[in-house]
Amino acid sequence: MVNLLNFNQPQLAQWFAEMGEKPFRAKQLMRWMHHFGEHDFEQMTDIAKVLREKLAIEAEITLPTVQLEQVSNDGTHKWLIGADTANSIETVFIPEDDRGTLCISSQVGCALECTFCSTGRQGFNRNLSVSEIIGQLAIANRSLRLETGYDMLPISERIISNVVMMGMGEPLANYDNVVTAMQIMLDDSAYGLSRRRLTLSTSGLVPAMDRLKEDCPVALAVSLHAPNDALRDVIVPINKKYPLKELMAACNRYLEKAPRDFVTFEYVMLDGINDTVEHAHQLVALVKNVSCKFNLIPFNPFPNSGYGTSKAVNIKTFRDILMQAGYVVTVRKTRGEDIDAACGQLAGKVLDKTKRVAKRISIEAI
Ligand code: SAH
Ligand code: SF4
Repeated sequence: MVNLLNFNQPQLAQWFAEMGEKPFRAKQLMRWMHHFGEHDFEQMTDIAKVLREKLAIEAEITLPTVQLEQVSNDGTHKWLIGADTANSIETVFIPEDDRGTLCISSQVGCALECTFCSTGRQGFNRNLSVSEIIGQLAIANRSLRLETGYDMLPISERIISNVVMMGMGEPLANYDNVVTAMQIMLDDSAYGLSRRRLTLSTSGLVPAMDRLKEDCPVALAVSLHAPNDALRDVIVPINKKYPLKELMAACNRYLEKAPRDFVTFEYVMLDGINDTVEHAHQLVALVKNVSCKFNLIPFNPFPNSGYGTSKAVNIKTFRDILMQAGYVVTVRKTRGEDIDAACGQLAGKVLDKTKRVAKRISIEAI
């Protein structure tokens, strides 16, 4: 049976056309499924009864299952969501004064093996489907609306105002499904998010960045983490394939189409590894031709990581050097620490099925 949550609007229109139905049904159904969160065909009252019955036979609207929901002292929420019996992924909601951000996963595990990342340490199992990606937004939306009693408010007063593709996995390594899910997020009949409020974070898959700017240009964050190739080759190994010079050029190409006029560079602060004054000056030189902002992320520890979090004074010095060079810099506050929901701590349950050889091939193919 086909799960209609896997389709964006054009794909759904095509599916209706193949059934001999009018393509405008797609818009109606997108509104029911995503805008109103209605998953029972029987309740879709503006669709003829005969068609509702036909839909119930041919199709389903099925969300992934929630295994656990946790709420932190600071209001951060985390959902552990079943990808299948052996695997699960995590989704995090971070409330702030002026917005609410949902952090969505794109893969079960990750093949890219950044050394400081708990997801990367677990290896790669599989890509998430479109319904599993968009399902995270649906699950969080439903749960937060029920909890806050906001159900009666217009959709414009949303609890989730921003979405970041920054959970488990490398979104651009699951390109087709991530792009389709993001198109649903942007669709006015579905979630109607603006491109500026949807951010994709990548470790720097250059060819996929070029495709994204054509297919679905959303705000872009790039995980830089090192100011020179020698260090980045070690901590973000995909750098060996797409070194910094190519990555900076790809950022500039992306900016031609991006909804914001800057790229956000994420930089995890690892004690004694990438956080010296010298590194900060190298960083300023590296990005001099790219319109950008910086987001410094104090390293979030996890068991046996082998890394420590930079000292507060070193983070401040690093930040000041970037600011003196004229850049906007934020230092990310750690949220949801008591429920292991902080950036880079998302572990889920990943049964690593990738043999090392297969892993190498998949990286080659990216
Ligand atoms: N794969 C994508 C998106 C997911 S990771 C990417 O790498 O950009 C989201 C962000 O968390 C990235 O910037 C990543 O480098 C960072 N991160 C990973 N592990 C971390 C940790 N232990 N502490 C702090 N940030 C971490
Ligand atoms: Fe994958 Fe991103 Fe973690 Fe690197 S930081 S291993 S790309 S999830």
